[in-house]
Amino acid sequence: MEESNLTISIAHLYPELLNLYGDLGNIITLKKRCEWRNIKVEINNINIGDKIGNNDLYFIGGGQDKQQEDVAKELYSRKAELTDRMEAGAVFLGICGGYQLFGHYYQPHGKEKLKGISLLDIYTVAGKNRFIGNVTVKTDFLTPDTLVGFENHSGLTYLEGNTKPLGKSITGHGNNGCDGFEGARYKNVFGTYLHGSLLPKNPQFADYLIELALEKRYGKKIKLKPLDDKIEINTHNSLVNKPY
Ligand code: GLN
Repeated sequence: MEESNLTISIAHLYPELLNLYGDLGNIITLKKRCEWRNIKVEINNINIGDKIGNNDLYFIGGGQDKQQEDVAKELYSRKAELTDRMEAGAVFLGICGGYQLFGHYYQPHGKEKLKGISLLDIYTVAGKNRFIGNVTVKTDFLTPDTLVGFENHSGLTYLEGNTKPLGKSITGHGNNGCDGFEGARYKNVFGTYLHGSLLPKNPQFADYLIELALEKRYGKKIKLKPLDDKIEINTHNSLVNKPY
């Protein structure tokens, strides 16, 4: 199919509350990498009280505990619909606080557990220390296989059941500073602690997510034409294994 005949709909979940450390840059990257290929992009901002619609890709950013509390109840009320979208093949990307709410629960310090929507078989408990620094992750599904960004979280995330990590922590603490893994993935759901924002410096992951979203919408694999990513790749390579 000609790329100029393609359309993709992207839902940005609770952008006014969960948009820490420039996570909006992920939406901008997805939008521009589609527009540069003349793919029509619909960006739907989903705020408290809005319907979640039927989108090809759902993005949720990070946030402090307070913003997570504000979002958690609303997100939980949409659990059945979001699970349906996952089972229908929609793509999900959650960053840090948003990633934590993709799991069964997030337990902040000395507060009520925040129920998650269980798209990922994970749970998170706030730890004593904050993990803050540069992160490099080695994946088994991307080329180049590295993801770079930075982490800033106290949450310790533990994977259970069939949930696979996004990759191995090369630098940084990753999910919990113990198991050597970072992030999580299941079906087309991806979660990670990498802020940065993530996708501008990892264009291969952005295109991977766009191709998954197009496959969900059109029912067949669609290989995107390559873009001139010299600047993005130089930036990516300058950050691989950057000291913590
Ligand atoms: N409040 C969560 C934590 O500290 C998430 C932080 C974030 O989104 N950067 O782990």
